[in-house]
Amino acid sequence: MYLKNIELQGFKSFANKIQLNFNPGITGIVGPNGSGKSNVADAVRWVLGEQSAKQLRGAKMEDVIFAGTENRKKLGFCQVSLTIDNTEKKLPIDYTEVTVARRVYRSGESEYSINGGNCRLKDVHELFFDTGIGKEGYSIIGQGQIDKILSSKPEDRRDLFDEAAGIVKYKKRKELAEKKLQEEKQNLFRVNDILSEIE
Ligand code: ATP
Repeated sequence: MYLKNIELQGFKSFANKIQLNFNPGITGIVGPNGSGKSNVADAVRWVLGEQSAKQLRGAKMEDVIFAGTENRKKLGFCQVSLTIDNTEKKLPIDYTEVTVARRVYRSGESEYSINGGNCRLKDVHELFFDTGIGKEGYSIIGQGQIDKILSSKPEDRRDLFDEAAGIVKYKKRKELAEKKLQEEKQNLFRVNDILSEIE
């Protein structure tokens, strides 16, 4: 599994649609200061569902949309698509290539898709659970993140090990089941209350 391609349109400094193709192995992105190298990493983080503008080095989510220059008007939306090679079927989907896309409008409206089909953010998260690729995964190591990991609380550090061990999806399912169980307990409690009133 490797990142094959990323397409950006209207994302931060990339007003025009551009495609970056990657091969297996190591790829370096070089360029002068301010040319947009970190914006490419931000785009990867964003399409994987990053919800924090701060993590994307902005003040509000709208800041990911091309803000215009002296010669060019600002844009109304941006879109990023990420294509991952899945020939080894590490992602739980029956395709040898998986394209995840996210689009956001200035109005705040946001859309996600997997291989062209609209989906929810939850589906994007579930696709990448336990692969290390998700926005909380360890495949994107930002500046200062190693220090943060080393100095973080043991419980927070454990999240990384859970992801690597492949148990995040089970933990999430357990959380959901426990929440549902709690709701059912409340319902039962109410029913018993009504029954005792009638009797
Ligand atoms: P360095 O080598 O200094 O770290 P870099 O190549 O990583 O630089 P980035 O931080 O990726 O550069 O890009 C910064 C540039 O992106 C700045 O010129 C900034 O004005 C531009 N930029 C960021 N957000 C937007 C936006 N919404 N619209 C237009 N340009 C933007």
